[in-house]
Amino acid sequence: MKICKLCGHGFSSPGWRCPRCEEAPTSINGFLSFVEEKMQLHDSFKPEYFPLLYRLEAGSFWFQHRTRLILGAIAHCSPAPKNVLEIGCGTGFALAEIRKTYPDATLSGSDLFTESLHFASMRVPTASFYQMDAYRMPFNEEFDLILALDILEHIDNDSRVLSEIFRSLSPGGRVIVTVPQHRWLWSIQDVKAFHRRRYTRRELVGKMRHEGFKIACVTSFITLLLPLMVLSRLYGRFAVNARKEYDPLRELKMHPLMNRIMGRVCRVEERVLQRGIKLPTGGSLLCIGVKELGHG
Ligand SMILES: [Zn+2]
Repeated sequence: MKICKLCGHGFSSPGWRCPRCEEAPTSINGFLSFVEEKMQLHDSFKPEYFPLLYRLEAGSFWFQHRTRLILGAIAHCSPAPKNVLEIGCGTGFALAEIRKTYPDATLSGSDLFTESLHFASMRVPTASFYQMDAYRMPFNEEFDLILALDILEHIDNDSRVLSEIFRSLSPGGRVIVTVPQHRWLWSIQDVKAFHRRRYTRRELVGKMRHEGFKIACVTSFITLLLPLMVLSRLYGRFAVNARKEYDPLRELKMHPLMNRIMGRVCRVEERVLQRGIKLPTGGSLLCIGVKELGHG
């Protein structure tokens, strides 16, 4: 069900014009926008990175690895998703892979920036894209699967977004969340990426439970590469101390050979996770939450 942002009326009719008050969302750069005007200046990412991200992420071991893990998680927890939303979908890399696996699913993506939606809609022309603020999602019990991949760490009030996700899920629906893990890994990379925090497992699980989710699964990943990640963060500190210019996309501009080696290591990690083994530590966390039947 959709929710009218003006009068709060819930409706399921096609299109976005509210049957009660006739309000319809405006379109910005070709995308329906649910963002308040004052939010347009929100400083949580640099939109000028999107063209480069679009070019680099398809070849990056990290995006490939995370996307394969997400596809594995979907197959495990929601094997036939019908109506999927990815919040903060960026340039649509994950949604494009989901489209290949689930050609008949209804896919939607949202982002604060229409600059990224432009690339996402080129990648997945059959999905719907919205400019949306995750604090005010215009949905109620609409989706059976919502993805929030490395989004919550950018948001001041992450609990409020988890609560919006909970309401937007149909009873029985699932959310798949990934976030950066371990406070001790905090570095200039997090600052440059506009992160508000890195999570502990207890913090993420606690916040999800508090908003009503039952936790179906939680595991670390980027476990085998954790020592390299620590070294890379130490180098980041060194580079900043030496007043070298720090490139926030440095980890995406890796030498192709290094990228291939990292990719191989990640494949080993995927095989471990596919066997249902949960990893206790790693650079990131993956958590699946369920909105149990009877909620709503
Ligand atoms: Zn209305």
